[in-house]
Amino acid sequence: MNDAAGPRVARQVRIDPDRLWDSHLEMAKIGATPGGGVCRLALSDEDRQSRDLFVAWAEAAGCAVRVDTVGNIFARRAGTDPDAPPVMTGSHLDTQPLGGRFDGAYGVLAGLEVVRALNDCDVATRAPIDVVVWTDEEGCRFTTKTMGSAVFAGLRPEGAVLDGVDPDGIRFGDELARIGYAGNEPCGGFAITAYFENHIEQGPILENEGIPVGAVLGAQGQRAFQVTVTGEEGHAGTLPMTLRRDAFLGTARMADALNAVAFDHQPNPVITVGHVRVRPNSRNTIPGQTVFTIDSRHPDAATLEAVKADMTAVCETIATDMGLELEILETNVSPVTTFDPGLVDAVRRAAAAAGIPCRDMFSGAGHDACKIAEVAPTAMIFVPCKDGVSHAEREDATPGDLAAGTQVLLQVMAEAAGGE
Ligand SMILES: [Zn+2]
Repeated sequence: MNDAAGPRVARQVRIDPDRLWDSHLEMAKIGATPGGGVCRLALSDEDRQSRDLFVAWAEAAGCAVRVDTVGNIFARRAGTDPDAPPVMTGSHLDTQPLGGRFDGAYGVLAGLEVVRALNDCDVATRAPIDVVVWTDEEGCRFTTKTMGSAVFAGLRPEGAVLDGVDPDGIRFGDELARIGYAGNEPCGGFAITAYFENHIEQGPILENEGIPVGAVLGAQGQRAFQVTVTGEEGHAGTLPMTLRRDAFLGTARMADALNAVAFDHQPNPVITVGHVRVRPNSRNTIPGQTVFTIDSRHPDAATLEAVKADMTAVCETIATDMGLELEILETNVSPVTTFDPGLVDAVRRAAAAAGIPCRDMFSGAGHDACKIAEVAPTAMIFVPCKDGVSHAEREDATPGDLAAGTQVLLQVMAEAAGGE
């Protein structure tokens, strides 16, 4: 990309797989659950402990630590050019209530290992390297997900995040202060040379194909809908079949037709009818109304638009045929994320240079990187997870795969940061 640092580092610096694995095991002790997972809800005592451990490790590695006003932590390894915007990497340390040891933690600890490995070989980079811990990625305690990175990218107002409350009415900003991470650095507003995020795939593709590294091209867009189907209630014993306007029967046919729409488009989008409310939901009354959700996702915006049109058409046809009223409300549009082609290619080249098999892929889930992609050149590096399972206690990954992804991260970061 730029000068000679990349090639030299790529040849000479090796990350330490044992140190990386040991750090994962140590971090996983914080909030450990009986089933082998972790529970570190955002801004809980366990979140504080994991932050404290990261800060202690980063400072021991010579980094200067800053915390911004929403609690994002930046650990900086200085570069030779103090004016160069940092090359940044990281992820999150908060988890789902019954989360795994690698979702989020891997991206943070891979970044820390890059710093430690550069230190081992005394390699200077021109641009500084920042390892970041984003606040509240999971979104299972307060209002929504990827809070810290969304504020950083200017996509969500800081005040709204700080004033968000959890189900017990506890305010985000108060909890942030309580755990000691209400920092005084302004959130965002500085340039980033490149942002990389390592993450477990959270799906089955890499494991099935025996490929240790994925170069992530972007993340799927999502369109979500709430559908209301209205028929008419009636007595389950007295109203003949031919006279019924059964809203649930219509809904069942729509769910089947929506599933078929997914298979009409190649490569497949994913379409899910995940929540249904039936009125009156009585054993011996014909259902008069249902409200159900549709979640549709695909990496291509045009396909997602075509899917929306097809989904609407099949629901309308069924409603008309059955004498039902239909209302479709779009409740969420998350745009397709496209990562920086130059950085994605750097990931491919770094993997090839290190002799590590790599394939292009899309992310099925949202990540902090999708928010940062709005303000900086961004790419992600995936590694396999066992059986594609994530957001679960049995989430697992191998030391070898975690190391392979981290070696690629080191090389792309060194190349982007430049230097010796
Ligand atoms: Zn994650």
